[in-house]
Amino acid sequence: MGRYRGPVCRLCRREGIKLYLKGERCYTPKCAFERRPYPPGIHGPEARFQRRQSDYALQLREKQKVKRIYGVLERQFRRYFEEASRRKGVTGAMLLTILETRLDNVVYRLGFADSRAQARQLVRHGHIEVNGRKVNIPSYRVKPGDIIKVRERSRKNAFFRERVDRLAEKQVPDWLELDPVNMAGRVLTLPQRHHIDIPINEQLIVEFYSR
Ligand code: SF4
Repeated sequence: MGRYRGPVCRLCRREGIKLYLKGERCYTPKCAFERRPYPPGIHGPEARFQRRQSDYALQLREKQKVKRIYGVLERQFRRYFEEASRRKGVTGAMLLTILETRLDNVVYRLGFADSRAQARQLVRHGHIEVNGRKVNIPSYRVKPGDIIKVRERSRKNAFFRERVDRLAEKQVPDWLELDPVNMAGRVLTLPQRHHIDIPINEQLIVEFYSR
């Protein structure tokens, strides 16, 4: 499945919020959104004073935000939405549950990577196992009871050796449990809306696809 390969700070500036796509840099004054908090492009600075957005524009922007946060392209995102609408429960919340249980997101939430993009790369490069078996598919969906772990031989890499100390201080969401010494995490339950701390209104996405 594809991924966006362009400049990511541009995406934050387009959405008007920090999407935290670059890991540590996002928390420093080097963050492009901190330096230029207006949309990209030649008319960006003027766009700050734009008049009120239409309902359609608000819905579209909310959808784009979520896609960009999780690093998912339109086709796959649409498939997730269709799956969420077929499932029992509130569609918007279900969509977020589906996105949260992607393996790349879980690797990021457990603190094995600084960003979802980096987590995706770790999965692609075969550093992660689920229930003792290597899984190199970032969109793989975890379920309650699954154990997600950095593979034994990968833990010898400088990248992971340096991370292990930092993991001791890592706070993970309530639906996950982290064993920092063994670089392993367990899924306790499926994430519900209140576990997911991203500042979006998922109802607008439902309205977007229900037009
Ligand atoms: Fe967004 Fe991070 Fe770039 Fe800042 S540094 S604009 S938060 S991706």
